[in-house]
Amino acid sequence: MKEQRKNRKTIGMIRRTAALLLLTAILGFAAFRCSKLHQADTLPDSSSAPLAELSATEAASSAGDVTEPPTEPSTEPPTEAPTEPPTEPDESWKLTLVNRWNALPEDYDISLLTLSNGISVDERIYPDLQAMFDDARANGLQPMVREGFRTRSDQEAIMAERIAGYEAEGYSGEEARQKAEEFVAIPGTSEHELGLAVDINSTSDDAWGLYNWLAENAHEYGFILRYPQDKKSITGIDYEPWHYRYVGKEAAAEIHARQLTLEEYLQG
Ligand SMILES: [Zn+2]
Repeated sequence: MKEQRKNRKTIGMIRRTAALLLLTAILGFAAFRCSKLHQADTLPDSSSAPLAELSATEAASSAGDVTEPPTEPSTEPPTEAPTEPPTEPDESWKLTLVNRWNALPEDYDISLLTLSNGISVDERIYPDLQAMFDDARANGLQPMVREGFRTRSDQEAIMAERIAGYEAEGYSGEEARQKAEEFVAIPGTSEHELGLAVDINSTSDDAWGLYNWLAENAHEYGFILRYPQDKKSITGIDYEPWHYRYVGKEAAAEIHARQLTLEEYLQG
């Protein structure tokens, strides 16, 4: 009995010792694993460090490449130029309004191009004018530019001539001027001084064939019938089926579609 108890005690001790040993073993293994893990944790860190350095130096060197023309971008503060997007060329010239009530701008600048018959126009309207004439001719018409750009003194001469004509008919000086001004634009207020207007005549007898074709098609080339019928109160000028004004294709399309004058179009 005593022996049995002693045995049991021994077995209990053995068990406890075994358990302790097992625990120690487990703890030891855990500690080992832990340190292993720790190493594993640090390894990638330390091994990735050179990579990071590499990419850092790469970045540095490529940044060096970018700033290689270093002085310009860095010393010059980024001026307006790059932020201002390459703006579209100023198109406002196409819609310059010149009429009885709106004189030609004082500083109006113009580059002329002389046509084969000696008439000049603003060089910017030439390509579209030529295209329009080519297509009119392809339709059996024979257009010619009878009037294009006029200088101020041209316009003054035309006015003086007309006044003299009325005076010769017996009108007083003032009456003659008033009458002339009904038909001739006061110098400084003629669209012809802009270089953007052309009087188109036919070299054949079919003037109306030409006028009708222009009325229907000129907008395709950026030109409008500038003085339509029944719009004198707005334009200041009677119907002139031959006088075409360049406004650009966009404006011409709308003016044609809505049957507007330039004055009405600009008023919105
Ligand atoms: Zn005209």
